[in-house]
Amino acid sequence: MSAPPDLLEHLDAVRRLAGHRPLGLFVDIDGTIAPIAPTPEQATVSPAIQRSLAALSRDATVVALTGRDTASARRVVGVAEIAYAGNHGMEWWEDGAATLEPLVQPYIERIHRLAVHLGAALADEPGVLAGVLLEDKGPSLAIHYRLAADPAAVRERILALLAGPGGAGGFPLREGKMLIEVLPPVALNKGTAIARTVERRALASVLVLGDDTTDVDAFEAVRELRARGALEALAVAVSSGDAPEALLAAADYRLADPAAVETLLTWLAGEMAGGTPS
Ligand SMILES: [Mg+2]
Repeated sequence: MSAPPDLLEHLDAVRRLAGHRPLGLFVDIDGTIAPIAPTPEQATVSPAIQRSLAALSRDATVVALTGRDTASARRVVGVAEIAYAGNHGMEWWEDGAATLEPLVQPYIERIHRLAVHLGAALADEPGVLAGVLLEDKGPSLAIHYRLAADPAAVRERILALLAGPGGAGGFPLREGKMLIEVLPPVALNKGTAIARTVERRALASVLVLGDDTTDVDAFEAVRELRARGALEALAVAVSSGDAPEALLAAADYRLADPAAVETLLTWLAGEMAGGTPS
């Protein structure tokens, strides 16, 4: 499959998009504005991206749209001026207030029990499951195995535990880069998060950037809104060669890595501040 064109060679497309205001900018965090790190705690966002996001928030609705919980997202991104949609849009931090989508509330205790159960399995099988990190994010659970010596074997073992007694019990599983997530059985995702923001902020255009499987929901949502004539939109896959096929297939353009995202956001902040809306 051919990769979508490089957005840095087609900045006119972004200029045209930004002429339709209000603009919404939705950025995933890990792998998009922050290089993938060995552990979630080690991820960082560059000062240039922080400055650009803060500047863009004066002229656009800026949302960090992530699988992280909002507390972790705010700590890593470190920009107070923007909004945060955590847990794939199940949790929000905007205008100084944290909110949880009511639909997910009934599942938090169950997810926590699963985290405790898997934590016990990690303690019981320290040789097999060494390097596995559990992240209890409230309404969802992330199991990271990037640091495992044999990631493929560890992935199989985790999937077996999730399928067994005390496991995920039919809750939806989703896999990302060196990551398995257990999600509550609700129809909320990055796509519904964008649709909610488009409606609440009456957005005329949307630019969305992401690098992994959960971003496909976001890309498909904006394509649908665009197809209905509801707004102008561009979906951008951040890919240094390891992006999921489905993400590339749903993207209009690509950027090579978070450094290319930094270049785009720096340019766009200048464009939005100095340009004249059409
Ligand atoms: Mg990501």
